[in-house]
Amino acid sequence: MARYTGPSCRLCRREGCKLYLKGERCTSDKCALSRRAQAPGQHGAGSGRRRVKEYSLQLREKQKAKRYYGILEKQFENYFKKADRKEGQTGENLLIMIERRLDNVVYRMGMADSRKEARQLVLHGHFTVNGKKVNIPSYEVRKGDVVALKEDSRKLEKFKVLIENITARTVPSWMDIDKENIVATIKELPKREDVDFPFEEHLIVELYSK
Ligand code: SF4
Repeated sequence: MARYTGPSCRLCRREGCKLYLKGERCTSDKCALSRRAQAPGQHGAGSGRRRVKEYSLQLREKQKAKRYYGILEKQFENYFKKADRKEGQTGENLLIMIERRLDNVVYRMGMADSRKEARQLVLHGHFTVNGKKVNIPSYEVRKGDVVALKEDSRKLEKFKVLIENITARTVPSWMDIDKENIVATIKELPKREDVDFPFEEHLIVELYSK
C-alpha cells in the first residue's frame, strides 16, 4: 500500500503539534517543531490569527490521527466505518482499533523508534503472533495474543541495539513484556485512556457524520 514518504516534520508543522514521527529526535532540541512552529508553506505565517472554521478543526483532527499512526485516507475511513458499526462510542472504538494494530504494538514494545520503523519491521517478517510469523502491520491483536521477536532476528545487529534500549521505554498497562525474551502478551485490550495523545475524537466523528 502506498505511504506518505515526504518529510515527517512537515506533517507536525502542518498540524501545529508534535506527532512523534522521528523517534529520539522528537524529544531532542533538534525537533523541527521546537525550532519553527509555524505551518509549512507560504500561508503558514499568521495563520494562527485566522478564524478557524468548524470544518477545518474537524479535518485537522482527522489528519492528526492519520499522521500520528501513519495510516492513509482509505484505510482510516474503513476503520471509521467499522468503529461506527461497533457498540459503544465510535470515536473511542476508532482509536482503540488503531491502537491494536501490530505495528503499534511493536512500537509500544520499544522495538522501533517510530511507528513507521515498526511497520517496516513487521513487513519484513521479524515478528510472530502466537508462534506464527505475521507480516501484516494492520493485524489487530486480541486479548491473550503473544507477540514476539523471531529467534533468528534477535541475532541481527540492529535488534541487539534495540534490545539494549528496551528498558528505557514505558510499557503500556494493557501488555506484559518479557524484556529478556522480547515477548509481549496482550493481557487486555487497550482502553481510551491508554491512547497517549490528546485526540479530540468527537471532531473526527462529526467530520465523517456530515
Ligand atoms: Fe515532529 Fe519529531 Fe519532526 Fe519534531 S522531530 S517535528 S515531533 S517528526
